[in-house]
Amino acid sequence: MSPLRYLENVVTLELDKEICIGCGMCAVVCPHGVFAVEERQARIIDRDACIECGACAGNCPVTALKVKAGVGCASAIIQGWLTGKEPNCDCGGSC
Ligand code: SF4
Ligand code: SF4
Repeated sequence: MSPLRYLENVVTLELDKEICIGCGMCAVVCPHGVFAVEERQARIIDRDACIECGACAGNCPVTALKVKAGVGCASAIIQGWLTGKEPNCDCGGSC
């Protein structure tokens, strides 16, 4: 379980188990260990650790995941890690 927590019960993350093919990509890209993948099926094991960065939904090959991806510095930093580009959230360094 991630030590970093978001607000409880407000996360918009949704997993459609009927569509999931169990590729495991969501568990690979999620920086907060939100998913477990067992027997070709993803499961949300720590929903409140989700920071709504959007990486899982953006990398799911069958669009089984939906999340209202946040904006701001945290999201930009994670996207920077994933893409290898300089993080940029357009805040001008004010936060
Ligand atoms: S990335 Fe999508 S298809 Fe792959 S395990 Fe996760 S939810 Fe399932
Ligand atoms: S939105 Fe980000 S933090 Fe939340 S489950 Fe997906 S990859 Fe993990």
